[in-house]
Amino acid sequence: MSKLLLSASIISALFFITTSHAALSNELKAHVHGQAQLMLAVEHDKIDFKLISPAESLLGFEHQPTTLLEFKKIADVKQLLEVHSNIFQFNGSDCQIQALNIDTSQIMNNGRHQHAHAHKDIIVNYQLKCHRSIEATSVTLKLFKHFPTLKNINAMWITPSNQGAEQLNTKNTTLMLY
Ligand SMILES: [Zn+2]
Repeated sequence: MSKLLLSASIISALFFITTSHAALSNELKAHVHGQAQLMLAVEHDKIDFKLISPAESLLGFEHQPTTLLEFKKIADVKQLLEVHSNIFQFNGSDCQIQALNIDTSQIMNNGRHQHAHAHKDIIVNYQLKCHRSIEATSVTLKLFKHFPTLKNINAMWITPSNQGAEQLNTKNTTLMLY
């Protein structure tokens, strides 16, 4: 129960950061091709890593797939995202994936009520269990080389003792957590 409450409090704290920094918040809400968002929450033995990216930056297109090639592209990208070492590496701690969710529903469920040209995001959530997450002093993002049109990632992070926000890019791929 206490663990659950702690999770809830960290997540609400993260939302608080999002809403309290108006400028950053606006930046985070904007859907800009080539620019993704990262939300990172570090707890005692857990790390929550959530990436929100324009579908275009991961797939090269942003419409509901119709051709075999487009369906294959989605399957390939999912396969790549499933291997977390393609995406990030925590330095200083030994982490295993506990849960993974790749949400492509915005691009797959393009119903008649949606605007055909509306922007679509892909949301990827990794939940990690770490030997000593508190010793994870930094995280290196490795996804830029797999997704060349992805140029910037606006990251927000929170640990039990610290929090911050930083923009990462192909030249600055490591987020320091302490
Ligand atoms: Zn878009």
